[in-house]
Amino acid sequence: MQRGEHLYAGKAKSVYLTDVPNLLIMHFRNDTSAFDGEKVAQLERKGMVNNKFNAFIMQKLEEQGIKTHFEKLLTEDESVVKRLEMIPVECVVRNIATGSLCKRLGITDGIDLNPPVFEFFLKDDARHDPMVNEYHIRSFGWAEDREIEFMKTTTFKVNDILQGLFMQHGMLLVDFKLEFGRYQGELLLGDEFTPDGCRIWDATTREKLDKDRFRRNLGGVVEAYEEVAHRIGVHLD
Ligand code: ADP
Ligand code: UDP
Repeated sequence: MQRGEHLYAGKAKSVYLTDVPNLLIMHFRNDTSAFDGEKVAQLERKGMVNNKFNAFIMQKLEEQGIKTHFEKLLTEDESVVKRLEMIPVECVVRNIATGSLCKRLGITDGIDLNPPVFEFFLKDDARHDPMVNEYHIRSFGWAEDREIEFMKTTTFKVNDILQGLFMQHGMLLVDFKLEFGRYQGELLLGDEFTPDGCRIWDATTREKLDKDRFRRNLGGVVEAYEEVAHRIGVHLD
């Protein structure tokens, strides 16, 4: 498969057309960003680790009946995916309170959220990804009723599957973000599932094993991603 025209570069991934219609190459770069792109760095090996991590998770989800854009691994840091018409909202589920939820509502960091909390955010860095609700999504035409329902139900299904997977290997899935897009009349899970877009804590020590290590200058960012990968069975080398 040939890399075609460069379609766009996000903060951590670049997307290219290919010689096959409807298929894209997604390149996981070593670039890492936080605080809506205010803090940036290059982290050696991150692109490769996230590419393989994402492939593993997307395949696990497919096995459990979740339809995703993932087609195949192409190189160490590139995957082939279906080209989606992305819905410009982020779907977040939280099992434990931390991050923006605590800042916004004054909730104690680390408390269990039972039932889990679901939130939509608008993908708009310039406005710091504001939280939106279903009325905004409907009124501004970002998605239809049935798509909103589908995104919520699917995000909770993903939560059940992945909470179980991480728990089996001694980790807590604290929260995560998903993005969906339209493909030939249906919605598919798009973008990525990696430690860049979720929070994972060691179940015993509650040590952070995700991008909070970068946000909070804790060091050992990619080493933590690799540790999670090894524990769940992702082959990196
Ligand atoms: P950001 O937009 O947050 O800076 P990335 O660096 O991860 O993010 O860039 C990836 C971009 O590709 C995002 O805008 C994402 O919505 C988009 N994208 C993800 N999966 C697909 C897909 N299958 N088809 C088209 N675009 C996609
Ligand atoms: N998240 C993400 N991209 C974003 C915003 C959030 O991947 O643009 C993820 C983040 O990594 C975390 C979850 O969504 O796993 C909830 O993030 P939160 O709202 O707490 O925001 P943050 O503290 O990251 O600003």
